[in-house]
Amino acid sequence: MAERKIAVIGVGKIAQDQHLPVIDKSDDFELAATVSTRGLGHGDKPVFKTPAELYAAMPEISLVSICTPPNVRHQYVREALDAGKDVMMEKPPTTTISELDDLIAHARRLDRVLFQTWHSQYNAAVDRARDMLAKDGVKSVRIDWRESVRKWHPGQDWVWEPGGFGVCDPGINALSIFTKVMPFPVFVQESTLTFPANRQTPIDVQITFKSGQPHQPEMSAGFNWLEESGEIWTIRFETGTGDELKLEKGGTVLRVNGEVVLENPSEEYERIYERFAALLDAHQSDVDAAPLRLMSDVFLMGARVNGPDFEW
Ligand code: NAP
Repeated sequence: MAERKIAVIGVGKIAQDQHLPVIDKSDDFELAATVSTRGLGHGDKPVFKTPAELYAAMPEISLVSICTPPNVRHQYVREALDAGKDVMMEKPPTTTISELDDLIAHARRLDRVLFQTWHSQYNAAVDRARDMLAKDGVKSVRIDWRESVRKWHPGQDWVWEPGGFGVCDPGINALSIFTKVMPFPVFVQESTLTFPANRQTPIDVQITFKSGQPHQPEMSAGFNWLEESGEIWTIRFETGTGDELKLEKGGTVLRVNGEVVLENPSEEYERIYERFAALLDAHQSDVDAAPLRLMSDVFLMGARVNGPDFEW
């Protein structure tokens, strides 16, 4: 089948690190154009300042991948759907659940494909962990998600603005794995959010989860954005049969009782674009709201602590 022409909207870090190179080597997609407020292009492809300019100039482009921060996503996705496009959107999908619900309904109304990416879910180790937990049950869970904001979001002031999620921007990747693999629903029991005194979003978050399970599994998470020793993206499960399952390196590695049983190179964005191609073939949407829902509860239940100022 011929490659589908797709435009990338928002040429920031993740578009440059992943979307554009992955589209370049994809057999399913071909980059047609970029939309960039700063006028950033890719190769010899046309660049537009706004999506409206792209839609007017190249109406034949029926697919867009929206790689902006979440605060403008609702507006951009709606505009794309209204222009008759099928849409892939980066995580977190939107800043509020009401906006996400609206996008799901709008895509359905217009019969367009809407695909919400949660890149951390696209790992074979995550699928294996889900299967094992479905069989053996869960006695306890500990999530540790620590990284350097200066490395992963260099100079991105939007992460510190209301709706920018703060450390919950990477933290929601952990929750996207957690909600995918857990064999029963989980809820936020309590959370403590530490905000730099001069910023609007948290830099450290500690969460205790609960469930409706009679055996009351212990479940907790810690997100931190000042980790300079390297990334710690780990979820440890104790199964109902007493085994230790550990997802490491963001879900790319699975250890059982200390032994590596599955380790794949991170090809999350390759898998995401393959999934988008399959959804387009089937003319089906795929939007999983569970991670955003749970993260919203972290904020709703959050006790606030003031921490030291943060400067880049
Ligand atoms: P970024 O480097 O700040 O890039 C976002 C780009 O979106 C900007 O460079 C800008 O590109 C465009 N944009 C349009 N409207 C904007 C606005 N109002 N404010 C700021 N930028 C605007 O951010 P990013 O790291 O690529 O993150 C984008 C999304 O991808 C986020 O939702 C993030 O959670 C997700 N993500 C990021 C990473 C990562 O490693 N950083 C990993 C996975 C997913 P133009 O100047 O070209 O318009």
